[in-house]
Amino acid sequence: MTDQSLLTADRLVQTAFDFCETKLSQNRTLRLAADEWTNFAAVVLSCRAPLLAGDSAACQIFQEDETRNETSPASPDLDSCARPEVETTDCEKSCNKAFITVVSFATGTRCLGQSRLSSSGDVVNDSHAEVLARRGFLRFLYAEVSKAFSEESEILEALSGGRRRFRLKADVKCHMVISHTPCGDASIFPVTDEDRVVNRKRKNVQNSQSERTKRKKHENSKSEDGILSDDLPKEDVHRTGAKCVPEGSQDSREEGTGYHAIGALRTKPGRGDRTLSMSCSDKILKWNHLGVQGALLSRLVEPVYLDSILFGKCPFDCDGVRRSLVKRGVENFSEKDSSSFRRKEPHIEQSRVLFPCGKHEADLAETVKRPCPKSVVWYQTDDGGCLEVLVDGRKQGTSKNNISSPKTRSMVCKKELFRCFQDVLLKISKDEDNALSFTSQETVNKPHMYDEAKRKANAAYFLYREKFMDSFPGWTTKPKYHFLVEDILEKSFASTKIVTDGMKPSQ
Ligand SMILES: [Zn+2]
Repeated sequence: MTDQSLLTADRLVQTAFDFCETKLSQNRTLRLAADEWTNFAAVVLSCRAPLLAGDSAACQIFQEDETRNETSPASPDLDSCARPEVETTDCEKSCNKAFITVVSFATGTRCLGQSRLSSSGDVVNDSHAEVLARRGFLRFLYAEVSKAFSEESEILEALSGGRRRFRLKADVKCHMVISHTPCGDASIFPVTDEDRVVNRKRKNVQNSQSERTKRKKHENSKSEDGILSDDLPKEDVHRTGAKCVPEGSQDSREEGTGYHAIGALRTKPGRGDRTLSMSCSDKILKWNHLGVQGALLSRLVEPVYLDSILFGKCPFDCDGVRRSLVKRGVENFSEKDSSSFRRKEPHIEQSRVLFPCGKHEADLAETVKRPCPKSVVWYQTDDGGCLEVLVDGRKQGTSKNNISSPKTRSMVCKKELFRCFQDVLLKISKDEDNALSFTSQETVNKPHMYDEAKRKANAAYFLYREKFMDSFPGWTTKPKYHFLVEDILEKSFASTKIVTDGMKPSQ
């Protein structure tokens, strides 16, 4: 990325980190304890104009003579990829302005084990920051689709043709900011001399703790990403706690560079029993093929691909990250694929900005820190944004007494996202002249259960998804989700009033 570009990785990453810090500092319960760290991710859009609605603090304007938010000059350890820059649109070039807006962000490091999965879709199984930030982005997209139908969306435009579908406007670019290399395959890369210094310092800090604490931390650290053994061989790779799926190649666990299988699909580390959630490296790989919008939204919008993935300061290997997130299995996919779904290679770059509560900051700290058990997810809405704190996949404050209450559900759980889908379909079917050509009678009059709705959402999506799954055998499958969004369905057939009431957050 050249100095001339307005949309530098540093600016995008700094804006996302600053916005998160501002949000978390507004509420005492959101702040991390002094001995905690977490991972961070955000979805940031760069646009022709600022997104006017919502939280204005989420938007930053950069002009050519702008100097604020600049970070220190390039350091020798900066890992910059020899790839095209973050794209600057024609407008940004001509007016020398760039508008960037944080539309969702999340923090989190936890994932529920297999035994705690809920087939009713009311629990968020995977609370890693990247996954929650994407889910928050889905909420934002559903709201934009709803607006786009009445031509009020600032980021979506209608496609021509019989079926009402939308796509991102040409000058809207989608960026994901991540504070640390994603768990799983992308975390496996050679250890550098600087990494050894950080590791040694961290071990010294650990050793200065009491014997009992030291032992406990060491045991806990076994499943963390990026932890290295005390006596590093001369050549070694960073470790990941994510486990290879049973069907594929397995880790040799022999000390040195051969410790891990490279390119293997992995499931996330969990506390207790094994998780069925694929590692963030694998999920991001899938987003780079199928888009981040997922199956249901693919009925309403063209695939939404990440234009760039930008990282905070941390141990990093650009070639390794690109190999893992975009190059794996490339030989199975043709560039000439005529489908709107195709492998997309985002720009990948590391910034010089350190996430202040992140893992790398914790590794450099003078005291031992532990991962924060809470997760936070925020997404932009017309009335300023929706922020939630999650513990074990439900809203903070959930107890044995209220666990079955809809009020404990996260707004980004499967059930609530399905509610968004149904709501948009109902709205469109009500307003559209030729409603049935878009929604189909069966969807409006007999809403599908979740799995069935996903399967029927978009034939092209599922065709490409099958191809993707064939190329990556061993991808985990979760128990079937056969839930309805019961309250919205009941109301929707009693009265059309649900079209306006159905989306209210369950507070
Ligand atoms: Zn992860």
